[in-house]
Amino acid sequence: MKNMIRTNSWLQQSEAFYQYVAPTPLADPYFVHCNEQVAQLFRLSAEQLNSDSNLRYFNGDEIAAQLSPIATVYAGHQFGIFTSKLGDGRTILLGEVLGFKGDKYEIQLKGAGLTPFSRTLNGRYLLSDALREYLASEALSGIGIPCTRALCLLGSRTEIGSGTAAILVRIARSHLRFGHFEYFHHLEDFGAVRELFNFVLEQHFPELLNEVPAQRPLKFLEIVIMRTARLLASWQSVGFTHGVMNTDNMTLSGETLDLGPFGFMEAYDPAFSPNPSDDQNRYQFDQQADIGRWNCLALAQAVSSLLATPTIPAGLLRLYRQTYQQLYLQIMREKLGLYTQLDGDREFINSLLTVLTHTHADYTDFFRNLAQFETGCKSQDLFPDIADMDLLQSWLHRYQERLAVERRPNKVRRKAMNQINPAYILRESILNRVVQSAEKGDFTELDRVMALLKNPYQEPLT
Ligand code: AMP
Ligand code: MG
Ligand code: MG
Repeated sequence: MKNMIRTNSWLQQSEAFYQYVAPTPLADPYFVHCNEQVAQLFRLSAEQLNSDSNLRYFNGDEIAAQLSPIATVYAGHQFGIFTSKLGDGRTILLGEVLGFKGDKYEIQLKGAGLTPFSRTLNGRYLLSDALREYLASEALSGIGIPCTRALCLLGSRTEIGSGTAAILVRIARSHLRFGHFEYFHHLEDFGAVRELFNFVLEQHFPELLNEVPAQRPLKFLEIVIMRTARLLASWQSVGFTHGVMNTDNMTLSGETLDLGPFGFMEAYDPAFSPNPSDDQNRYQFDQQADIGRWNCLALAQAVSSLLATPTIPAGLLRLYRQTYQQLYLQIMREKLGLYTQLDGDREFINSLLTVLTHTHADYTDFFRNLAQFETGCKSQDLFPDIADMDLLQSWLHRYQERLAVERRPNKVRRKAMNQINPAYILRESILNRVVQSAEKGDFTELDRVMALLKNPYQEPLT
């Protein structure tokens, strides 16, 4: 693999953006898992990835002389409060690698030791936490939601706190965060903001180089805002709660990043909050879309020195709301097997969410079960876990009427619904089982869950 990582575009940029740093190897490293699907992006099999030389390379034992690994500097709004300097405290960027389709990916080591941005922390990643990120990124990707991926995961005998340390070998189109711009804006180093902007455009938004220069910042914001709104609509549609939507965890690429105290909702609950340290519930499930907008405003402010006028155009934030609402409505219609658009659809969907809230229905199972619905069916049999059937029953009456507008055979609707409503999500109990067995050195459960998450739309095994 090391021979495939030949470039790092950051190295041509001002050294104000990063610091050189060498990974600190773990003791007795071993592969916990090699990700076949991601390896295939580079025309490698899992077996080819699983080699001694790759193990040594990703463990930082033989950092290739041809490239210098770096940690980048960024800032961020954490739980609404600005922190002026964060940076890659436990991630090290090795460089870039070309996928077989010609697209470029950054490769990072997460957990490879101290960097100049580690502050008082240890630069390490607990195996249990690394497994959480690994599985969550596969779960989201399997569903079709943009997310960073991992090429492989290394375990070790290095003890840290409550367990052993791991290195997650992470890939992304780019790991650029809103916070990268916030750092230089806060310092009022507008020259650096401009240089970073030009770098970001060249590397990741080349289509904007066709725009007249004065228009580029606004167009850039429009793209990032639309990506973010789309990401949020897709999270909401599957009940995914990120848990730490700080601006330093938001990407310019619209990929989900930094999966720690996330949660896939099980019983439907708008106030679902998987992060115990979020004591104000700022990032709870039903706040996420607004937080996405708030974060986009923070990004717009961070690049405002590049705009023709210092005030953020109001149209930008309208764009966020419009994009989010349109896409969310479209996905939810499809989840229900509805393809025509009626004026009352938004209210109809909201009324379902109210029913789900009161009945504590399992959000994922509900849509799979609903696919089986047909006129005259026994709803108690379809939804065996729902206690208060009366509440659901009146909504199902409306559903039956609404389906009449569609004129699709049940079979066709069922098939389409099962292709948009996952049967498998990463439930906390599943995750805990994987972590417990992996910590004992047994990876069979990990293999099994990885295979399910790869294709979450298949019929559940009984
Ligand atoms: P996060 O909460 O993961 O988004 O991280 C917030 C900041 O803390 C980032 O700058 C991270 O790089 C840094 N950080 C988190 N955990 C560690 C750790 N164990 N060692 C060093 N830095 C860390
Ligand atoms: Mg420097
Ligand atoms: Mg982070």
